Amino acid sequence: PAPIPSVAVDGSEDRLPVRRIFCVGRNYAAHAREMGKDPTREAPFFFTKPADAALDTPCTIPYPPQTEDLHHEIELVIAIGKGGRNIAEADVMDHVWGASVGIDLTRRDLQAEAKKAGRPWDWGKAFDNSAPIAALKPIADVPSVEQGRIWLAVNGEVRQDADLADLIWSVREHVAILSQSMALAPGDIIMTGTPAGVAALVEGDVVTGGVDGIATLEVTIGPRA
Ligand code: MN
Repeated sequence: PAPIPSVAVDGSEDRLPVRRIFCVGRNYAAHAREMGKDPTREAPFFFTKPADAALDTPCTIPYPPQTEDLHHEIELVIAIGKGGRNIAEADVMDHVWGASVGIDLTRRDLQAEAKKAGRPWDWGKAFDNSAPIAALKPIADVPSVEQGRIWLAVNGEVRQDADLADLIWSVREHVAILSQSMALAPGDIIMTGTPAGVAALVEGDVVTGGVDGIATLEVTIGPRA
């Protein structure tokens, strides 16, 4: 059997086994605009990555195959600790085990081809090593998942800089909506969408990022695999 994928826990030797990774699409208005879409309150949509796309940080990730346009997307990460279906917005935080920060790495050229052809996004989003995630902070120690700076820098130059208050669909809202389609379970990870400023990475780039009060990360892009 393959090892069970897991995410580190801040200040502990414990690890949270990962069941699934859900990602929210277009959840910041300025990012929706940069992707050529009107930011609206139309229902949020989701896509997934395999559990073993999760990687501890700091790490070095080989530049992935079959792309010339690897993009960074810094995102607040939520981990579900208690499962449920049809969770009410008011109860969502009782189901959240912890929070962190991660990068939804994207082969943008493959995603764009898929969009154009009406094909699934998996080859653009769900590839090997596509979800580096910093150690989770237990929710009791998290100051807020509703406000706080979220940022990403490449080689020290800030490229993404926003606030969780800019989320179109808040954590309470999108987790409640997700639970209407899928029964959530312990170890489900949710990457909550990226703010504006996504751009290409090249071999040798050192990517840093964080959400204030929650976590920071560092990822180096290595040579092509
Ligand atoms: Mn994303």
